[in-house]
Amino acid sequence: MKWQGRRKSQNVEDRRGQSGPGGGGGINPFLIGPLLKILFSKTGLIIVGVVIVFSVVTGTNPLNFLGGLMNGGGQGFTTETNYAPSAEENELAEFSATILGDTEIIWNQLLQDYREPTLVLFTGSVSSACGNASAATGPFYCPGDEKLYIDLSFFEDMERKLNAPGDFAQAYVIAHEVGHHIQKLMGITDEVHNLRGQVSEKEYNQYSVKLELQADFLAGVWAHHSQRISGMMESGDLEEALNAANAIGDDRLQKQASGRVVPDSFTHGTSAQRMRWFKKGFETGDLRQGDTFSASEL
Ligand SMILES: [Zn+2]
Repeated sequence: MKWQGRRKSQNVEDRRGQSGPGGGGGINPFLIGPLLKILFSKTGLIIVGVVIVFSVVTGTNPLNFLGGLMNGGGQGFTTETNYAPSAEENELAEFSATILGDTEIIWNQLLQDYREPTLVLFTGSVSSACGNASAATGPFYCPGDEKLYIDLSFFEDMERKLNAPGDFAQAYVIAHEVGHHIQKLMGITDEVHNLRGQVSEKEYNQYSVKLELQADFLAGVWAHHSQRISGMMESGDLEEALNAANAIGDDRLQKQASGRVVPDSFTHGTSAQRMRWFKKGFETGDLRQGDTFSASEL
């Protein structure tokens, strides 16, 4: 990709070198007494009600949410003094900010009143509105705070462990997570999450697959317009993305996840389906072609 020297996104929160809150978001034991008092008061019941409604709507664990509140909303970070990123890692950070910047250019053109998401770079572990996550979770999007979370070591893992090398493969990952953000803005994420518990698990998993494939499609739509407007792609780049679509499903990314942090599903489409929907988005660039929910064949 010819990505160097382009505009970088300003919506990047660099939390590298900070460790997330200790104890995995648990409630501070010293606060249990006062917390119980509050819980059994009238206001407490209202707060609990609001938290439960919020949790159902956003698909987060209410205990994580409460834990986050007790930890000061996840602000309790400590900075590791011995953190020094390598030159390669800093280049990956520049790259990610550039790709995010390009998705802003494209989606601002395609959608009215596009609300830009924030990219959080972290190392090790991170706290999000969807709970705490470790690097093993892989990149994820949290609809609760409209942020994308990436530990850049994932890109090295893609190359070394998942056999999906190439900068465009990395761009595809970012564009896929931005795709989940588009789904959130369009109300699709909420629609699907609201079905949880209303339909059988099997049926729900099928909806999750459609959500994933649509995020792939949206990544393809970005790539189509990005190529038209920014022209960053070089020969071999499309193949890199298709190879990555084949090699990395959210299932693989999330398999080693600790806890249920990622709001979308552990189920996914087949590699062939993932490649097909990315390609469809890339070839058409037409948002109307991406209705994976009413498609007769995925
Ligand atoms: Zn996904």
